Order: sequence, then C-alpha cells, then structure tokens
Amino acid sequence: MKGRRIGITALVPPEVVYACGCRALDLNNLVPESMVRPEDKLCAWSAVWRELLLRREVEVDALVVVAGGDCYTSLVDAQRVELAGIPAHHFIYPFSGDIRLMREQVEALAEFLGELEHEVMDEVAELKAMALRVHEMRSRGELGSRDGFLIEVSASDLMGSPARYREALENLGEVDVSYEHRIALLGVPPIYSDFHEVLAELGMHVVFDEMPYEFIRHTGRSMAEVARSYARYTFALHLRRRLEFLRKQLRRHRAEAAVHFHQYACHHSLEEPLLRGLCRELRIPYLSIEADLPGRTPEQVRLRLEAFAERLGEES
Ligand code: SF4
Repeated sequence: MKGRRIGITALVPPEVVYACGCRALDLNNLVPESMVRPEDKLCAWSAVWRELLLRREVEVDALVVVAGGDCYTSLVDAQRVELAGIPAHHFIYPFSGDIRLMREQVEALAEFLGELEHEVMDEVAELKAMALRVHEMRSRGELGSRDGFLIEVSASDLMGSPARYREALENLGEVDVSYEHRIALLGVPPIYSDFHEVLAELGMHVVFDEMPYEFIRHTGRSMAEVARSYARYTFALHLRRRLEFLRKQLRRHRAEAAVHFHQYACHHSLEEPLLRGLCRELRIPYLSIEADLPGRTPEQVRLRLEAFAERLGEES
C-alpha cells in the first residue's frame, strides 16, 4: 500500500493521502500542457485526463474520484477509467457542509488508502501555512501572479511529494511586480497554460485565484480538523455560501475587476449571471471567458483581454 500513486479527480485532502503513505497526483494539473484531443468529450478537463489514463500515458495505482460536490462529467469519465481496471474510491463532499458527514468521508478515505501517520498531517498543514504566506506576498505585489498561481494550484497534490513542494516554496524570491490593475480570477482555473502571463503583459496582476485559493486554505492536523475545514469547501456548497465568501475575498484583496473563467459544457457556466451580479453590486468590471481545449491563450481571447485592460485604464 505504501508509496502508491493516487490519481485525484478534484480536491481531495492531501493531508490524508500523504499521511497514509501514498502520493497524490492531481490529474487536472496535467491538462493545460497536454496535446491530447479526445474524440468523445463534454468538458476537456476530465476528457483529457481520462484519455491519458486509458492510453496508459499516465500511470496511477488507484483513483480517488470526487463523486459528490464536483461534477457528473468527471464522474462519468472517471468511471470509464475504473471500468478499464483501475481501482477507485469515491469521495463525497456533503452539500449541507455537515462536519459529521465530512468526517465519515475522510475516515473512509483513510481506510481505503492505508494507515495514518499524524506527523505527516502536521507537515502538510505547515506547508499550507507557508503557501498562504506566499499568497499574501502575491497580493502585496511581491510575487508574480504566475508563480503565486503555480504554488496555489499545486497544493492539491503537493507536486507529488511534500519535500518537492517545500523546495518550491523555499525557492521563491521576493520581487517587485509593477502592474496597473488588481484582478480576481473566478471559477475554474484557466485551461490555457500561459493565461496569467498574458494578463501580466497587459498590466493585470491576479491577486486572487478562486479555486487554487481553496486548495491552500483548507487543512488540519487531525482528522477532526481536516473534516471541519474541508466541510467549508465552497465549490461543494450552496451557491449562497460561495457568493458570500467571494464578496468578502474580492473586498479583502481590493480586486479592481474580475475575470470569470469557465469551460465549454460545464455546469459552472450557469453561475455566470450570479457572478456578474456580484461584481455589479461591488461596482467592479467583469469579464466572462469560456474555454474549450487546453493550450496557449487563443488570439481572440487575447484581444478580448486587451479590450478589457483598456476599459479598466479608462475607468481608473
Ligand atoms: S470544468 Fe466543469 S465540467 Fe469540467 S471537470 Fe471541472 S466542474 Fe467538471
């Protein structure tokens, strides 16, 4: 059991995965750089990792599939992989945010993965605390948004080992970022590998990445703490709670504008009017971008971002 590589399909507490002696691989982190173009797909995120697994271009010993609180597209794609012979465990976020139900889920996860070593949970919690400090550096303009984003999005699997993640955190140096506008990135992370760089070229510094921020803010040094924290994972809860959380974060990060990134054939696209409404209420400009296949930022998206940056310049 020890040392097994566990593919995760969405946020699964790395505290538990590593404490059970396994290694996590967030399958989504493989997608933006992938050249795979699946023939049968709805959302490219799950279809690309499904193909990578079915073609055995990526090897995992088992899957932990988020089967509640994530999406049914990825659940179906994951079941196709499971039917091809890869063992899987299903992890469910309670929609109610009930801590007792969340505790049952993290206990069942640990039972599937192996025996728990609590010191490892301490180590992961410490790394998350370091990542939160990095987040604040980025927000103060002491770190480029691409570097900050990579640290936050990689907190889901700790880059395959806590030691590697620690090294990445320790190797970050302070810089003085010059920018014109503070931007919040809402929704799923961009499937375009250079998206943060494109924004930076246009003077837009991303101070808040919604989903990656969720990866670093939840943690715990015991199963009870992990359950309490992950029960507040906003993507799995009622939209009212996510909107309340975003309202606070947009104010706290002094976001001057928001870019909402969503994906073709994803149910999160239906949240567009609500996020647009939130930005209207906060009196900040809003831009919605729907993507499909991974790769570099397409020219027409770049043109829309340029127009958005110009508009921000005129309004400031
Ligand atoms: S982007 Fe949407 S459809 Fe695609 S895997 Fe994520 S939640 Fe599912």
